Amino acid sequence: MNGTEVRANAVQLSFPRRTDVVIIGGGIVGVSAAIHLAERGVPVVLCEKGRIAGEQSSRNWGWIRKTGRDLRELPLMVESARLWARLVPLLEEDIGYGVRGTTYLAETDAEFAPHEAWHQAAKPFQLDTILLSASETDRMLGRSGRRFAGAIHTPSDATAEPALAVPAMARHATKLGVTILENCAVRLVERANGTVTGVVTEHGEIACKSVILAGGVWSRTFLENLDLNLPQLAVKSSVLRTAPAPEIVSGGLGATRASVRRRMDGGYTIARSGAAEFQLVPAAFRHFGAFLPVLRDRWRIMTIKAGRDFFGPLGSARWRADEETPFERVRVFDPKPDLRLLDGVMKAAGELHPQLVNARPVETWGGMIDVMPDEIPVIDTPPGWQGLLIATGLSGHGFGIGPGVGHLAAQMTTGEKPLVDPEPFSLSRFCRRIAA
Ligand SMILES: Cc1cc2nc3c(=O)[nH]c(=O)nc-3n(C[C@H](O)[C@H](O)[C@H](O)COP(=O)(O)OP(=O)(O)OC[C@H]3O[C@@H](n4cnc5c(N)ncnc54)[C@H](O)[C@@H]3O)c2cc1C
Repeated sequence: MNGTEVRANAVQLSFPRRTDVVIIGGGIVGVSAAIHLAERGVPVVLCEKGRIAGEQSSRNWGWIRKTGRDLRELPLMVESARLWARLVPLLEEDIGYGVRGTTYLAETDAEFAPHEAWHQAAKPFQLDTILLSASETDRMLGRSGRRFAGAIHTPSDATAEPALAVPAMARHATKLGVTILENCAVRLVERANGTVTGVVTEHGEIACKSVILAGGVWSRTFLENLDLNLPQLAVKSSVLRTAPAPEIVSGGLGATRASVRRRMDGGYTIARSGAAEFQLVPAAFRHFGAFLPVLRDRWRIMTIKAGRDFFGPLGSARWRADEETPFERVRVFDPKPDLRLLDGVMKAAGELHPQLVNARPVETWGGMIDVMPDEIPVIDTPPGWQGLLIATGLSGHGFGIGPGVGHLAAQMTTGEKPLVDPEPFSLSRFCRRIAA
Protein backbone atom coordinates (compact mmCIF):
# COMPACT_ATOMS: atom_id res chain seq x y z
CA MET A 1 0.00 0.00 0.00
CA ASN A 2 1.25 3.50 -0.63
CA GLY A 3 -1.88 5.56 -0.65
CA THR A 4 -2.14 5.39 -4.42
CA GLU A 5 -5.04 3.84 -6.24
CA VAL A 6 -4.36 0.20 -7.02
CA ARG A 7 -7.15 -0.08 -9.54
CA ALA A 8 -6.09 -1.67 -12.82
CA ASN A 9 -6.95 0.02 -16.04
CA ALA A 10 -9.32 -2.83 -16.78
CA VAL A 11 -11.79 -2.24 -19.55
CA GLN A 12 -15.37 -3.21 -18.80
CA LEU A 13 -16.32 -4.84 -22.06
CA SER A 14 -19.85 -5.92 -22.87
CA PHE A 15 -20.59 -8.90 -20.67
CA PRO A 16 -19.06 -12.08 -22.15
CA ARG A 17 -21.47 -15.03 -22.34
CA ARG A 18 -18.89 -17.64 -23.34
CA THR A 19 -15.13 -18.22 -23.02
CA ASP A 20 -12.65 -21.08 -22.59
CA VAL A 21 -11.37 -20.34 -19.08
CA VAL A 22 -12.92 -18.27 -16.29
CA ILE A 23 -10.52 -17.18 -13.56
CA ILE A 24 -12.03 -16.30 -10.19
CA GLY A 25 -9.88 -13.72 -8.41
CA GLY A 26 -7.70 -10.83 -9.57
CA GLY A 27 -4.74 -11.32 -7.22
CA ILE A 28 -1.26 -12.33 -8.33
CA VAL A 29 -2.28 -15.96 -8.92
CA GLY A 30 -5.33 -15.20 -11.07
CA VAL A 31 -3.58 -12.50 -13.09
CA SER A 32 -0.45 -14.65 -13.63
CA ALA A 33 -2.59 -17.57 -14.81
CA ALA A 34 -4.45 -15.23 -17.18
CA ILE A 35 -1.18 -13.99 -18.70
CA HIS A 36 0.08 -17.52 -19.31
CA LEU A 37 -3.18 -18.60 -20.96
CA ALA A 38 -3.45 -15.46 -23.09
CA GLU A 39 0.15 -15.91 -24.28
CA ARG A 40 -1.00 -19.26 -25.67
CA GLY A 41 -4.07 -17.76 -27.33
CA VAL A 42 -6.59 -19.25 -24.89
CA PRO A 43 -9.69 -17.03 -24.41
CA VAL A 44 -9.91 -15.97 -20.74
CA VAL A 45 -12.34 -13.98 -18.62
CA LEU A 46 -11.04 -12.97 -15.18
CA CYS A 47 -13.73 -12.03 -12.63
CA GLU A 48 -12.72 -10.01 -9.60
CA LYS A 49 -15.37 -9.23 -6.97
CA GLY A 50 -13.71 -5.90 -6.06
CA ARG A 51 -10.67 -4.43 -7.70
CA ILE A 52 -7.49 -5.99 -9.07
CA ALA A 53 -5.06 -6.74 -6.23
CA GLY A 54 -7.35 -5.13 -3.68
CA GLU A 55 -6.57 -7.80 -1.10
CA GLN A 56 -3.37 -9.72 -0.23
CA SER A 57 -1.61 -9.01 -3.50
CA SER A 58 -1.28 -5.25 -2.81
CA ARG A 59 -1.04 -5.45 0.98
CA ASN A 60 2.05 -7.61 1.30
CA TRP A 61 5.63 -6.63 2.14
CA GLY A 62 6.93 -7.05 -1.42
CA TRP A 63 9.52 -9.77 -0.74
CA ILE A 64 10.26 -12.20 -3.59
CA ARG A 65 12.39 -14.73 -1.79
CA LYS A 66 13.71 -18.23 -2.02
CA THR A 67 15.38 -17.90 1.40
CA GLY A 68 13.72 -19.96 4.11
CA ARG A 69 11.10 -21.49 1.80
CA ASP A 70 9.56 -24.85 2.51
CA LEU A 71 11.64 -27.25 0.41
CA ARG A 72 8.50 -28.73 -1.15
CA GLU A 73 7.73 -25.40 -2.84
CA LEU A 74 11.33 -24.37 -3.52
CA PRO A 75 11.44 -25.80 -7.10
CA LEU A 76 8.32 -23.78 -7.97
CA MET A 77 9.82 -20.68 -6.31
CA VAL A 78 13.01 -21.04 -8.36
CA GLU A 79 10.83 -21.09 -11.51
CA SER A 80 8.75 -18.21 -10.18
CA ALA A 81 11.88 -16.07 -9.73
CA ARG A 82 12.66 -16.71 -13.42
CA LEU A 83 9.10 -15.77 -14.38
CA TRP A 84 9.37 -12.46 -12.46
CA ALA A 85 12.59 -11.63 -14.30
CA ARG A 86 11.00 -12.47 -17.69
CA LEU A 87 7.74 -10.62 -17.00
CA VAL A 88 9.01 -7.33 -15.60
CA PRO A 89 10.45 -5.93 -18.89
CA LEU A 90 7.21 -6.88 -20.70
CA LEU A 91 5.16 -4.69 -18.36
CA GLU A 92 6.82 -1.47 -19.56
CA GLU A 93 6.04 0.12 -16.17
CA ASP A 94 8.25 0.66 -13.14
CA ILE A 95 6.94 -1.68 -10.47
CA GLY A 96 9.96 -1.20 -8.22
CA TYR A 97 11.30 -4.66 -9.05
CA GLY A 98 14.96 -5.31 -8.35
CA VAL A 99 17.27 -8.19 -7.46
CA ARG A 100 18.41 -6.78 -4.13
CA GLY A 101 18.80 -9.84 -1.93
CA THR A 102 17.15 -11.12 1.21
CA THR A 103 18.90 -11.14 4.58
CA TYR A 104 17.58 -12.61 7.82
CA LEU A 105 19.46 -11.35 10.86
CA ALA A 106 19.81 -13.49 13.98
CA GLU A 107 20.08 -11.64 17.29
CA THR A 108 21.13 -14.80 19.14
CA ASP A 109 22.70 -18.18 18.40
CA ALA A 110 19.29 -19.76 18.99
CA GLU A 111 17.84 -17.59 16.21
CA PHE A 112 20.75 -18.47 13.94
CA ALA A 113 20.27 -22.25 14.30
CA PRO A 114 17.16 -22.57 12.05
CA HIS A 115 18.92 -20.54 9.32
CA GLU A 116 21.88 -22.92 9.48
CA ALA A 117 19.54 -25.91 9.32
CA TRP A 118 17.67 -24.51 6.31
CA HIS A 119 20.94 -23.61 4.54
CA GLN A 120 22.10 -27.20 4.97
CA ALA A 121 18.76 -28.70 3.87
CA ALA A 122 18.55 -26.47 0.78
CA LYS A 123 22.05 -27.47 -0.47
CA PRO A 124 20.68 -29.78 -3.24
CA PHE A 125 19.02 -26.73 -4.83
CA GLN A 126 22.42 -25.04 -5.34
CA LEU A 127 21.15 -21.58 -4.44
CA ASP A 128 23.49 -18.64 -3.90
CA THR A 129 22.46 -18.48 -0.22
CA ILE A 130 25.30 -17.91 2.27
CA LEU A 131 25.62 -17.77 6.05
CA LEU A 132 27.30 -14.69 7.52
CA SER A 133 29.26 -14.60 10.77
CA ALA A 134 28.79 -11.77 13.28
CA SER A 135 31.64 -9.73 11.75
CA GLU A 136 30.49 -10.43 8.17
CA THR A 137 27.01 -9.28 9.15
CA ASP A 138 28.49 -6.08 10.58
CA ARG A 139 30.38 -5.52 7.33
CA MET A 140 27.25 -6.00 5.24
CA LEU A 141 25.31 -3.56 7.41
CA GLY A 142 28.19 -1.08 7.46
CA ARG A 143 28.46 -1.05 11.24
CA SER A 144 30.53 -2.47 14.09
CA GLY A 145 29.88 -3.95 17.53
CA ARG A 146 28.69 -7.42 16.55
CA ARG A 147 25.06 -6.59 17.39
CA PHE A 148 23.95 -9.73 15.50
CA ALA A 149 25.05 -13.35 15.99
CA GLY A 150 24.97 -13.84 12.22
CA ALA A 151 22.69 -13.84 9.21
CA ILE A 152 21.54 -15.80 6.19
CA HIS A 153 21.73 -13.99 2.87
CA THR A 154 20.54 -14.77 -0.67
CA PRO A 155 21.81 -12.16 -3.18
CA SER A 156 19.52 -13.38 -6.02
CA ASP A 157 16.27 -12.73 -4.12
CA ALA A 158 14.24 -9.73 -5.22
CA THR A 159 11.71 -7.15 -4.04
CA ALA A 160 8.97 -5.18 -5.81
CA GLU A 161 6.18 -2.76 -4.95
CA PRO A 162 3.04 -4.85 -4.44
CA ALA A 163 0.63 -1.95 -4.98
CA LEU A 164 2.12 -1.41 -8.44
CA ALA A 165 3.06 -4.92 -9.58
CA VAL A 166 -0.22 -6.81 -10.01
CA PRO A 167 -2.21 -3.88 -11.47
CA ALA A 168 0.59 -3.52 -14.05
CA MET A 169 0.41 -7.26 -14.76
CA ALA A 170 -3.37 -6.93 -15.19
CA ARG A 171 -2.90 -4.13 -17.72
CA HIS A 172 -0.44 -6.38 -19.56
CA ALA A 173 -3.02 -9.20 -19.49
CA THR A 174 -5.70 -6.97 -21.04
CA LYS A 175 -3.24 -6.04 -23.82
CA LEU A 176 -2.84 -9.77 -24.49
CA GLY A 177 -6.62 -10.07 -24.86
CA VAL A 178 -7.79 -11.11 -21.37
CA THR A 179 -11.20 -9.74 -20.42
CA ILE A 180 -11.01 -8.44 -16.85
CA LEU A 181 -14.28 -7.77 -15.06
CA GLU A 182 -13.91 -5.87 -11.79
CA ASN A 183 -16.85 -5.64 -9.37
CA CYS A 184 -17.95 -9.00 -10.73
CA ALA A 185 -18.29 -11.68 -8.05
CA VAL A 186 -18.60 -15.29 -9.14
CA ARG A 187 -21.36 -16.95 -7.13
CA LEU A 188 -21.18 -20.55 -8.31
CA VAL A 189 -19.42 -22.95 -10.64
CA GLU A 190 -21.82 -25.11 -12.62
CA ARG A 191 -21.17 -28.66 -13.81
CA ALA A 192 -22.88 -31.46 -15.70
CA ASN A 193 -21.86 -35.11 -15.35
CA GLY A 194 -18.89 -34.16 -13.18
CA THR A 195 -17.52 -31.62 -15.70
CA VAL A 196 -17.52 -27.83 -15.44
CA THR A 197 -19.94 -26.08 -17.81
CA GLY A 198 -19.75 -22.49 -16.63
CA VAL A 199 -20.00 -20.00 -13.81
CA VAL A 200 -22.79 -17.84 -12.45
CA THR A 201 -21.67 -14.30 -11.66
CA GLU A 202 -23.64 -11.50 -10.07
CA HIS A 203 -24.11 -10.08 -13.60
CA GLY A 204 -25.09 -13.30 -15.36
CA GLU A 205 -23.77 -16.66 -16.53
CA ILE A 206 -20.58 -17.34 -18.49
CA ALA A 207 -20.29 -20.71 -20.23
CA CYS A 208 -16.76 -22.13 -20.13
CA LYS A 209 -14.75 -25.35 -20.23
CA SER A 210 -12.49 -24.62 -17.29
CA VAL A 211 -12.41 -22.54 -14.12
CA ILE A 212 -9.38 -21.54 -12.04
CA LEU A 213 -10.32 -20.62 -8.48
CA ALA A 214 -7.69 -18.15 -7.27
CA GLY A 215 -9.88 -16.60 -4.59
CA GLY A 216 -7.26 -16.13 -1.86
CA VAL A 217 -8.81 -16.05 1.58
CA TRP A 218 -12.32 -16.56 0.15
CA SER A 219 -11.60 -19.89 -1.50
CA ARG A 220 -12.78 -22.08 1.38
CA THR A 221 -16.07 -20.19 1.71
CA PHE A 222 -16.61 -20.45 -2.05
CA LEU A 223 -15.91 -24.19 -2.08
CA GLU A 224 -18.04 -24.92 1.00
CA ASN A 225 -21.03 -23.70 -0.95
CA LEU A 226 -20.21 -26.31 -3.63
CA ASP A 227 -20.02 -28.97 -0.87
CA LEU A 228 -16.24 -29.09 -1.19
CA ASN A 229 -14.21 -29.10 1.98
CA LEU A 230 -10.87 -27.22 1.92
CA PRO A 231 -8.90 -26.95 5.19
CA GLN A 232 -7.99 -23.30 4.73
CA LEU A 233 -8.20 -20.62 7.41
CA ALA A 234 -7.39 -16.93 7.65
CA VAL A 235 -5.03 -14.90 9.81
CA LYS A 236 -4.81 -11.13 10.01
CA SER A 237 -1.44 -9.46 9.64
CA SER A 238 -0.55 -5.79 10.25
CA VAL A 239 1.93 -3.60 8.40
CA LEU A 240 3.17 0.00 8.43
CA ARG A 241 5.19 2.19 6.13
CA THR A 242 7.42 5.11 7.02
CA ALA A 243 8.41 8.36 5.39
CA PRO A 244 11.80 8.25 3.61
CA ALA A 245 14.69 7.23 5.86
CA PRO A 246 18.39 6.44 5.27
CA GLU A 247 19.25 3.18 3.48
CA ILE A 248 20.33 0.16 5.56
CA VAL A 249 20.46 -2.33 2.66
CA SER A 250 18.34 -2.19 -0.49
CA GLY A 251 16.69 -5.64 -0.17
CA GLY A 252 14.50 -7.39 2.37
CA LEU A 253 16.00 -7.36 5.86
CA GLY A 254 14.34 -9.73 8.31
CA ALA A 255 14.70 -10.21 12.06
CA THR A 256 12.42 -11.86 14.60
CA ARG A 257 11.21 -8.59 16.13
CA ALA A 258 10.93 -6.47 12.97
CA SER A 259 11.36 -7.06 9.25
CA VAL A 260 11.95 -4.13 6.95
CA ARG A 261 12.08 -3.44 3.20
CA ARG A 262 13.25 -0.22 1.60
CA ARG A 263 10.50 1.05 -0.68
CA MET A 264 10.74 2.76 -4.05
CA ASP A 265 9.76 6.03 -2.34
CA GLY A 266 12.71 5.79 0.10
CA GLY A 267 10.51 4.83 3.06
CA TYR A 268 10.31 1.38 4.67
CA THR A 269 7.59 -1.25 4.82
CA ILE A 270 7.87 -2.70 8.33
CA ALA A 271 6.13 -5.60 10.10
CA ARG A 272 6.75 -8.60 12.32
CA SER A 273 6.99 -11.98 10.66
CA GLY A 274 4.47 -14.53 11.88
CA ALA A 275 2.78 -12.11 14.29
CA ALA A 276 -0.76 -12.74 13.19
CA GLU A 277 -4.28 -12.82 14.56
CA PHE A 278 -6.05 -16.11 13.99
CA GLN A 279 -9.71 -15.51 13.14
CA LEU A 280 -12.06 -17.86 14.93
CA VAL A 281 -14.81 -18.87 12.50
CA PRO A 282 -16.94 -22.06 12.44
CA ALA A 283 -14.48 -23.69 10.00
CA ALA A 284 -11.71 -23.21 12.59
CA PHE A 285 -13.38 -25.87 14.74
CA ARG A 286 -13.86 -28.20 11.78
CA HIS A 287 -10.19 -27.93 10.83
CA PHE A 288 -8.76 -27.47 14.34
CA GLY A 289 -6.92 -30.81 14.36
CA ALA A 290 -5.22 -30.10 11.05
CA PHE A 291 -4.01 -26.68 12.23
CA LEU A 292 -2.87 -27.75 15.69
CA PRO A 293 0.83 -28.15 14.70
CA VAL A 294 0.97 -24.59 13.23
CA LEU A 295 -0.80 -23.14 16.26
CA ARG A 296 1.54 -24.99 18.61
CA ASP A 297 4.54 -23.72 16.68
CA ARG A 298 3.38 -20.10 16.67
CA TRP A 299 1.46 -19.77 19.93
CA ARG A 300 3.91 -17.18 21.29
CA ILE A 301 3.42 -14.74 18.42
CA MET A 302 -0.12 -15.54 17.33
CA THR A 303 -3.29 -14.24 18.99
CA ILE A 304 -6.64 -15.95 18.63
CA LYS A 305 -9.59 -13.66 18.12
CA ALA A 306 -13.17 -14.68 18.75
CA GLY A 307 -15.99 -12.21 18.37
CA ARG A 308 -18.00 -10.57 15.65
CA ASP A 309 -15.81 -12.21 13.02
CA PHE A 310 -17.20 -15.60 14.01
CA PHE A 311 -20.27 -14.77 11.95
CA GLY A 312 -18.36 -12.34 9.71
CA PRO A 313 -17.67 -12.55 5.99
CA LEU A 314 -15.33 -15.55 6.30
CA GLY A 315 -17.74 -17.46 8.53
CA SER A 316 -19.98 -20.13 7.10
CA ALA A 317 -22.50 -19.11 4.49
CA ARG A 318 -24.70 -20.80 1.93
CA TRP A 319 -26.34 -19.22 -1.06
CA ARG A 320 -28.07 -19.99 -4.34
CA ALA A 321 -27.21 -18.61 -7.77
CA ASP A 322 -29.90 -15.91 -7.48
CA GLU A 323 -28.86 -14.73 -4.02
CA GLU A 324 -26.37 -12.09 -2.94
CA THR A 325 -23.12 -13.65 -1.68
CA PRO A 326 -20.47 -12.62 0.88
CA PHE A 327 -18.28 -11.67 -2.10
CA GLU A 328 -20.67 -8.90 -3.09
CA ARG A 329 -21.06 -7.71 0.49
CA VAL A 330 -17.28 -7.35 0.95
CA ARG A 331 -15.77 -6.08 -2.29
CA VAL A 332 -12.35 -5.49 -0.72
CA PHE A 333 -11.47 -7.03 2.62
CA ASP A 334 -9.78 -4.22 4.53
CA PRO A 335 -9.21 -5.41 8.11
CA LYS A 336 -8.11 -2.93 10.78
CA PRO A 337 -4.39 -3.18 11.62
CA ASP A 338 -3.25 -3.96 15.17
CA LEU A 339 -1.82 -0.55 16.13
CA ARG A 340 -0.45 -1.70 19.49
CA LEU A 341 1.51 -4.45 17.80
CA LEU A 342 2.81 -2.02 15.16
CA ASP A 343 3.91 0.41 17.84
CA GLY A 344 6.11 -2.33 19.33
CA VAL A 345 7.37 -3.36 15.89
CA MET A 346 8.38 0.23 15.07
CA LYS A 347 10.27 0.52 18.37
CA ALA A 348 12.04 -2.79 17.69
CA ALA A 349 12.98 -1.62 14.18
CA GLY A 350 14.64 1.46 15.72
CA GLU A 351 16.50 -0.72 18.25
CA LEU A 352 17.78 -3.01 15.50
CA HIS A 353 18.71 -0.33 12.97
CA PRO A 354 19.99 3.14 13.95
CA GLN A 355 18.80 4.43 10.55
CA LEU A 356 15.20 3.88 11.68
CA VAL A 357 15.30 5.56 15.11
CA ASN A 358 13.68 8.71 13.76
CA ALA A 359 11.72 7.12 10.90
CA ARG A 360 8.16 8.46 10.89
CA PRO A 361 5.28 6.00 10.33
CA VAL A 362 2.87 7.45 7.76
CA GLU A 363 0.43 4.63 7.00
CA THR A 364 -0.76 1.38 8.57
CA TRP A 365 -2.89 -1.40 7.09
CA GLY A 366 -4.09 -4.93 7.68
CA GLY A 367 -4.35 -7.91 5.39
CA MET A 368 -6.03 -11.29 5.70
CA ILE A 369 -3.72 -14.19 4.81
CA ASP A 370 -5.03 -17.56 3.61
CA VAL A 371 -3.23 -20.43 5.34
CA MET A 372 -3.15 -24.17 4.77
CA PRO A 373 -2.31 -26.57 7.62
CA ASP A 374 1.13 -27.29 6.11
CA GLU A 375 1.63 -23.72 4.80
CA ILE A 376 2.14 -24.57 1.14
CA PRO A 377 -0.43 -23.99 -1.65
CA VAL A 378 -3.09 -26.23 -3.11
CA ILE A 379 -2.97 -26.50 -6.91
CA ASP A 380 -5.29 -29.32 -7.85
CA THR A 381 -8.68 -30.45 -9.15
CA PRO A 382 -11.18 -31.89 -6.67
CA PRO A 383 -12.64 -35.31 -7.53
CA GLY A 384 -15.89 -35.07 -9.48
CA TRP A 385 -15.10 -31.57 -10.75
CA GLN A 386 -13.25 -32.00 -14.03
CA GLY A 387 -12.31 -28.55 -15.32
CA LEU A 388 -12.11 -26.89 -11.89
CA LEU A 389 -8.57 -26.08 -10.77
CA ILE A 390 -8.08 -24.74 -7.25
CA ALA A 391 -4.99 -22.51 -6.86
CA THR A 392 -4.98 -21.07 -3.38
CA GLY A 393 -3.54 -21.23 0.14
CA LEU A 394 -0.23 -19.52 -0.55
CA SER A 395 0.05 -19.13 3.21
CA GLY A 396 1.63 -15.70 3.55
CA HIS A 397 4.43 -16.04 1.01
CA GLY A 398 2.57 -16.00 -2.29
CA PHE A 399 3.74 -12.69 -3.74
CA GLY A 400 7.07 -14.27 -4.62
CA ILE A 401 5.71 -17.61 -5.77
CA GLY A 402 2.45 -16.21 -7.23
CA PRO A 403 3.64 -16.08 -10.88
CA GLY A 404 4.79 -19.69 -10.55
CA VAL A 405 1.51 -20.82 -9.00
CA GLY A 406 -0.51 -19.03 -11.69
CA HIS A 407 1.66 -20.47 -14.45
CA LEU A 408 1.39 -24.02 -13.07
CA ALA A 409 -2.38 -23.68 -12.60
CA ALA A 410 -2.74 -22.50 -16.21
CA GLN A 411 -0.58 -25.39 -17.47
CA MET A 412 -2.63 -27.92 -15.53
CA THR A 413 -5.79 -26.37 -16.99
CA THR A 414 -4.63 -26.72 -20.58
CA GLY A 415 -2.94 -30.10 -20.06
CA GLU A 416 0.56 -28.78 -20.88
CA LYS A 417 3.66 -30.31 -19.35
CA PRO A 418 3.89 -28.65 -15.91
CA LEU A 419 6.99 -26.57 -15.15
CA VAL A 420 7.47 -28.50 -11.87
CA ASP A 421 5.98 -31.64 -10.39
CA PRO A 422 2.59 -30.53 -8.97
CA GLU A 423 2.39 -33.47 -6.54
CA PRO A 424 3.37 -31.49 -3.38
CA PHE A 425 0.36 -29.25 -4.00
CA SER A 426 -2.22 -32.00 -4.27
CA LEU A 427 -5.45 -32.01 -2.28
CA SER A 428 -4.93 -35.64 -1.34
CA ARG A 429 -2.19 -34.67 1.14
CA PHE A 430 -4.92 -33.74 3.58
CA CYS A 431 -6.29 -36.81 5.23
CA ARG A 432 -9.89 -35.60 5.14
CA ARG A 433 -11.66 -36.16 1.87
CA ILE A 434 -12.32 -32.92 0.02
CA ALA A 435 -15.84 -33.96 -1.02
CA ALA A 436 -17.97 -33.06 2.01
C1 LIG B 1 0.53 -8.38 5.30
C2 LIG B 1 0.99 -9.37 4.29
C3 LIG B 1 2.35 -9.49 4.01
C4 LIG B 1 2.79 -10.42 3.06
N1 LIG B 1 4.09 -10.40 2.66
C5 LIG B 1 4.51 -11.20 1.64
C6 LIG B 1 5.82 -11.08 1.11
O1 LIG B 1 6.60 -10.22 1.47
N2 LIG B 1 6.21 -11.97 0.16
C7 LIG B 1 5.37 -12.92 -0.32
O2 LIG B 1 5.79 -13.72 -1.15
N3 LIG B 1 4.08 -12.99 0.10
C8 LIG B 1 3.63 -12.14 1.06
N4 LIG B 1 2.33 -12.18 1.48
C9 LIG B 1 1.42 -13.17 0.90
C10 LIG B 1 0.93 -12.77 -0.47
O3 LIG B 1 0.50 -11.43 -0.50
C11 LIG B 1 -0.21 -13.71 -0.87
O4 LIG B 1 0.16 -15.06 -0.66
C12 LIG B 1 -0.61 -13.54 -2.34
O5 LIG B 1 -0.80 -12.19 -2.65
C13 LIG B 1 -1.89 -14.34 -2.58
O6 LIG B 1 -2.32 -14.07 -3.89
P1 LIG B 1 -3.71 -14.66 -4.39
O7 LIG B 1 -3.86 -14.24 -5.79
O8 LIG B 1 -3.77 -16.11 -4.04
O9 LIG B 1 -4.80 -13.98 -3.43
P2 LIG B 1 -5.33 -12.48 -3.31
O10 LIG B 1 -4.31 -11.49 -3.64
O11 LIG B 1 -5.97 -12.38 -1.98
O12 LIG B 1 -6.43 -12.41 -4.45
C14 LIG B 1 -7.63 -13.14 -4.40
C15 LIG B 1 -8.69 -12.30 -5.09
O13 LIG B 1 -9.84 -13.11 -5.31
C16 LIG B 1 -10.96 -12.25 -5.23
N5 LIG B 1 -12.14 -13.12 -5.05
C17 LIG B 1 -12.37 -13.98 -4.03
N6 LIG B 1 -13.54 -14.64 -4.21
C18 LIG B 1 -14.08 -14.17 -5.37
C19 LIG B 1 -15.28 -14.45 -6.07
N7 LIG B 1 -16.16 -15.34 -5.62
N8 LIG B 1 -15.51 -13.78 -7.22
C20 LIG B 1 -14.60 -12.87 -7.70
N9 LIG B 1 -13.44 -12.57 -7.05
C21 LIG B 1 -13.18 -13.21 -5.90
C22 LIG B 1 -10.63 -11.35 -4.06
O14 LIG B 1 -11.38 -10.17 -4.07
C23 LIG B 1 -9.14 -11.12 -4.25
O15 LIG B 1 -8.86 -9.93 -4.94
C24 LIG B 1 1.85 -11.27 2.43
C25 LIG B 1 0.49 -11.15 2.71
C26 LIG B 1 0.05 -10.19 3.61
C27 LIG B 1 -1.42 -10.01 3.85
